[in-house]
Amino acid sequence: RGSLLNVENLRVVFYTYRGVIKALNGVRLWLNEEERLAVVGETGCGKSVTALSIMRLIEPPGEITSGKVEFLGEDLLSLPEEEMEKVRGKSISMIFQEPVAALNPVFKVGFQIAEAIAHSQNIPIKDAYQLVPEALTMVGLDWKRTMNLYAHELSGGMAQRVMIAMALAVKPKLLIADEPTSALDVTIQAQILELLDNLVRVGKNAVIFITHDLAVASEFCDRVAVMYAGNVVEVAKSDEIFARPLHPYTVGLIDSIPLVGQRKELKGIAGVVPDLVDPPSGCRFHPRCQKAFERCKVELPDLIEVSENHFVACHLYAAGDQNGSVAES
Ligand code: SF4
Ligand code: MG
Repeated sequence: RGSLLNVENLRVVFYTYRGVIKALNGVRLWLNEEERLAVVGETGCGKSVTALSIMRLIEPPGEITSGKVEFLGEDLLSLPEEEMEKVRGKSISMIFQEPVAALNPVFKVGFQIAEAIAHSQNIPIKDAYQLVPEALTMVGLDWKRTMNLYAHELSGGMAQRVMIAMALAVKPKLLIADEPTSALDVTIQAQILELLDNLVRVGKNAVIFITHDLAVASEFCDRVAVMYAGNVVEVAKSDEIFARPLHPYTVGLIDSIPLVGQRKELKGIAGVVPDLVDPPSGCRFHPRCQKAFERCKVELPDLIEVSENHFVACHLYAAGDQNGSVAES
């Protein structure tokens, strides 16, 4: 359990014309204050849905059908909407993959930041304006110029800096960053990551960093949670997950990362991401897993701690396993 956030048994579905998408299948996550957790996985594994659920921003045709999102001891899922609005943009803020789209097109940047500050600190907007120069300077922007620009006048990198300024100006306990650099050029990506790294360290914000890039995840974060098809399948410290990946899916992900200076053949992971309208029974990874056995098809493995701070959801590591499999180390 974490001191800041505990997500338990979170289930989310989307009602579509094709059928019900079982997007989250009992997600469990935890986070301590000032800690950085990476959530890693392929497109469609439920990373963003998890983030939006924490913010309670899942909208119809989506629905949170069960679970808890405990933030500082309070279950956000049972708060009245007006209380939740105070949590959003005050205790928890979020930055997205498409920063230009996330900004309001009809208001100038300065106004949007002032409004965010006014909302979070409960102060008049004209007082909040006084704090805008500092917020923009903090993210390396020329505040005089940037204040008066509209979203469409910003480059992708500038827009993401503005989003970061807005998200951190409210001094959130938790920042959720959903693929904040994947829409940016490679050189800009590195600058934005470095900026975030510094600001978050100074601001002592906890971070949930969503990415499909395991290498970036482990570099930026203390711990990594790997998601597959709507479940968290492995959680460990960043160095541990590379040194001793346990879940067959994590092993596959790591094997598919090109190593610098090594002409290693990319293996990828055989098979395709399952259709979550009709997900595989038992362990959702079993149709792609080379180590699958009978039990995998019938029983969803729990996320269990197999060594200190290393959790995995896989029957290979279950205590008292009847199939004679031995936990590998
Ligand atoms: Fe593979 Fe079975 Fe482990 Fe799932 S539970 S990852 S199918 S061995
Ligand atoms: Mg996403």
